[in-house]
Amino acid sequence: MSTKIAAEMAALATQIEEHNHRYYPLAAPLVSDQEYDRLLARLQELEQAHPELRQPDSPTLRVGGAPTSQFPSHRHEHPMLSLDNSYSRQDLLDFDRRVREALPDEAVAYVAELKIDGVALSLSYEHSLLVRAVTRGDGVAGDEITANARTIRNIPLRLREPGIRAEVRGEVYMAAEDFAALNRQREQEEEALFANPRNATAGSLKLQDPRLVAGRRLRFSAYWLHQPESKAATQHEQLETLERWGLPVNPERACCASIDEVFAFYDRCEARRQDLPYDIDGVVVKVDSLDQQRRLGNTAKSPRSAIAYKFRAVQARTRLKDIALQVGRTGTVTPVALLDPVLLAGSTVQRATLHNEDEIQRRDLRKGDMVILEKGGDVIPKVVGVVLEERPAWAVPFVFPQHCPACQSSLVRDPEEVATRCENPACPAQLKRRLEHFAGRGALDIEGLGPAVVDQLVDRLLVRDVGDLYDLDLETLSGLERLAKKSAQNLLDGLERSLQRPFDRVLFGLGIRHVGATVALALARHFRDLDTLSRATAEQLEAVPEIGPTIARSVGAFFANPQNQPLLAKLRRAGLQLALPEEERVAPPNFFTGKTAVLTGTLMHYTREQAAAYVMQLGGRVAASVSKKTGFVVAGESAGSKLDKAHELGVLVLNEEEFVARLAEAGLVVVPDQL
Ligand code: NAD
Repeated sequence: MSTKIAAEMAALATQIEEHNHRYYPLAAPLVSDQEYDRLLARLQELEQAHPELRQPDSPTLRVGGAPTSQFPSHRHEHPMLSLDNSYSRQDLLDFDRRVREALPDEAVAYVAELKIDGVALSLSYEHSLLVRAVTRGDGVAGDEITANARTIRNIPLRLREPGIRAEVRGEVYMAAEDFAALNRQREQEEEALFANPRNATAGSLKLQDPRLVAGRRLRFSAYWLHQPESKAATQHEQLETLERWGLPVNPERACCASIDEVFAFYDRCEARRQDLPYDIDGVVVKVDSLDQQRRLGNTAKSPRSAIAYKFRAVQARTRLKDIALQVGRTGTVTPVALLDPVLLAGSTVQRATLHNEDEIQRRDLRKGDMVILEKGGDVIPKVVGVVLEERPAWAVPFVFPQHCPACQSSLVRDPEEVATRCENPACPAQLKRRLEHFAGRGALDIEGLGPAVVDQLVDRLLVRDVGDLYDLDLETLSGLERLAKKSAQNLLDGLERSLQRPFDRVLFGLGIRHVGATVALALARHFRDLDTLSRATAEQLEAVPEIGPTIARSVGAFFANPQNQPLLAKLRRAGLQLALPEEERVAPPNFFTGKTAVLTGTLMHYTREQAAAYVMQLGGRVAASVSKKTGFVVAGESAGSKLDKAHELGVLVLNEEEFVARLAEAGLVVVPDQL
């Protein structure tokens, strides 16, 4: 018996470790939090029943993941613990009972706060200045990511009251809107999407370049204060102190005289959850009195005076009818679950992406399976598990097709990549997606060119590339099914209007791999016309701040490919905008004209890439290092050796405000990113 239990415990520990690894360092979890918590609770239950079998390195005793090796490690002055988790009223009543039993005959009040779903961060202030930011890591030591934290716009670099030495803890998170925008951009640039805002936040804080972090628009919300000389006696007074100092504290919180009042707060929050502009995964309940908190103490993993009362993820079960392959515009093949329609959190779901072949294998998804669908804080439904008891006897493991469903050519899987691709440039499925992309809102915005028309144009071989669209006439279009003469004329008008769309949108519309809207704009502004761009060497491409070797290679390959030449010739003949308009090519003479700028330090309101784009737009150039030829240096926060060099050479130095003022003088009014 005990060997069987020991084996189950060992298996659970291995699974939990694997999930920890995927969740913390990789920020790419495989199972839902609820499922993870279920495994952990089962292990805890077995350990309690059989304490002699508990392993000294059991995951039930550990917090979080190990610090990474990319940042300096910093030991926390007070350990950064996790919170006990609960999913039911009963759990919370048990918590309340435990607290009261430990504090007999004392009145106990609670503070209930939102549990924002992000990443914990500890901020140290000395003489009221932010001196250090450290992630939780394994609770004992974390990564020192001060430069990244400084880019978070609502973290004060200086507190509003003088002379303060304190440690502030809180949650770094990403608003739903910013998360959606980030994933849209990543989709355009064919980068792996983040599963949810929490993973996007964790991934962003791990970036080595603070400028990139600044572009991610992270936010902070403070919830804990350690200040030895603090006069506050309660958690709610601590929160008020944090607010007075200028730290962001979430206004949604409640002082509760009883656990019933906590339930009322929880119910209110759960009902309003979808209306909040950020994800919350529950409510955190803390004993209000700091003295009682101290006396309750901690377990190995969490304080006994606090608990996370989590929302249940919304789940539904349905049958997996089939797994279809969807071919993207650059040939990436994505498996999609075709499901029996099922209602999930207010909408009917019949499809869900399965990401890639590995994902299907890991879950051993089979046609005919009963699957569990889940909608977390984000709105995308996910297949999170299989109900093995309901697997039909005939279900067999899924074999990933070897051939493209649209053109039958062999699919290729790069051993380095998880993605499978169809590499046939003439594949009709890719062409359809390319046409849809070309006609999309952010590109040429061609009204009337929807999927039904695209399908027919490609299937009837009327269009072989986006250039052929401009040879279509009324007669041909009127011959298509379900396209009345009026709609056909509308489409022609839409095509005519698309001739006026600016050069960068044409570039974006071409659907070059890794060239999203932002990259297209940078390329257009830098090279100014298609001829110059098509002749650019890898070196010249990489000289553009937004462009790294991957994008440079992809752009180079597109223009070097002889098959794309007829396409470009057709676009030219049709009269699309293949250059910036004359007036934008030469900005009127201004402070920036002909000057070379060097950008250094962290700018608070723009990424350096944005700042560089402004300089170029006004006729300036941007260089990486300071020399006698440098016209001026823009110095942001923590500028280092480049600033010293500028002073040494007597080069003009502008701070961020002065820089923005010069931009405005030159006619470029830029609204800083506001929180
Ligand atoms: P947690 O997220 O359940 O709770 C603790 C954290 O809550 C704190 O560290 C803090 O960051 C945060 N928090 C938010 N608002 C707060 C507030 N007002 N006051 C105090 N803290 C607040 O615990 P955790 O240790 O960060 O992570 C464990 C959780 O992570 C598990 O419950 C599980 O759901 C999830 N997890 C999932 C997987 C997976 O594979 N899906 C793997 C590992 C962990």
